[in-house]
Amino acid sequence: MTAPVKPDIKSLTRDELLARFAEWSLPEWRVDQLLQWLYQRRVTTWDEMTNLPKAMRERLSAEFSLSSLTLSLKQGASDATQKFLWRLIDGALIESVLIPANPALYGDASDRHTLCVSTQVGCAYGCKFCASGLEGWKRNLRPEEIVEQILATERWHFEQSSKLKVQGSKLAEDGAATLNVEPGTLNSLAAAAPERLINNLVIMGMGEPLANYDNLLKALRILNAPWGFGIGARKITISTSGLAPQIVQLAGEPEQFRLAISLHGATDEVRSQIMPVNRKYPLRELTSACESYQRKRDRMITLEYILIAGVNDDLLQVRPLATLAKKLNAKVNLIPYNKVEGLQWRRPTDTAQEAFLTALEAQKVVATLRREKGHDIDAACGQLRLRTERELAGA
Ligand code: SF4
Repeated sequence: MTAPVKPDIKSLTRDELLARFAEWSLPEWRVDQLLQWLYQRRVTTWDEMTNLPKAMRERLSAEFSLSSLTLSLKQGASDATQKFLWRLIDGALIESVLIPANPALYGDASDRHTLCVSTQVGCAYGCKFCASGLEGWKRNLRPEEIVEQILATERWHFEQSSKLKVQGSKLAEDGAATLNVEPGTLNSLAAAAPERLINNLVIMGMGEPLANYDNLLKALRILNAPWGFGIGARKITISTSGLAPQIVQLAGEPEQFRLAISLHGATDEVRSQIMPVNRKYPLRELTSACESYQRKRDRMITLEYILIAGVNDDLLQVRPLATLAKKLNAKVNLIPYNKVEGLQWRRPTDTAQEAFLTALEAQKVVATLRREKGHDIDAACGQLRLRTERELAGA
């Protein structure tokens, strides 16, 4: 299957839709009705937009496509992290990961659910700990494919909630007393599902987000807009392997997106072993780009540091890491390495992880040690897609 020829309706901003509707002599409030169907009701067909006149729906359908993602596979970890493998319209596979409320990582304590979002099919950057880069870059995601990851995940969630509701009713009828719950308890749990499930985004799924800059920014503006998803810019964290020029460009944007850097090495020698991009944008250049970002923001940058046994977990890395973190007013997220099939690296022992954290804190750096919530579901970036593609290729 090939990519759609018509633009997708979810790749347009409200202003762009207003301009198109004005050409068609349609009033502004029709645009707002359409946006409601797309982003509040999450519909997947034109026919569901029942308060739009039939002629208008036909015109929209003639001019625009209305694509959605197909769920190819879902894995749920024991701690309720859910990993989704989506099939795109051209058959390509991408991943998103839904992480339940987890304060203090990127957002605030009130966070309900975070979605980790992909921005490319495959990746050209080949970070050595990452499965997404193992088979190279295929293509950039279009804005609607980035936006759809949030919509499709919410559709899945609310579908599950309504199934729970139906089951709850049936159980209540069958005699809730035998389950030792009040009649209606399950019903009310399902009914309490919020209108918006996801209120925090981390752009650190498959792909280098800043290598797909224009499509990413457009998608984020739709996700951020009150007529779209209304997710605050400060609840959207963009994670980059360190594309210095694009970090400077991002610093000039009006939105206060958060920035995370996949650092993983505090000296060029160590970082270049893990991140090939460091040869193009070494630490000096990356640091100066981050400083220019920091000057325009009042939020801390996050430095991601995957601890890999014998590669970057030596305590000698602590001092340069602390110097960098203090220079950038950054906090450090330590993440123990997740095993990737085909790679030899190992996770440090719990004791080694704790020792690194303690040494960093002794340098007065704000740091957390994050034991990956999706550790048991191939949560390392790109693993689920890679395994599925290889299975399909084998078949
Ligand atoms: S970590 Fe990100 S930038 Fe690096 S290879 Fe994986 S997807 Fe690409």
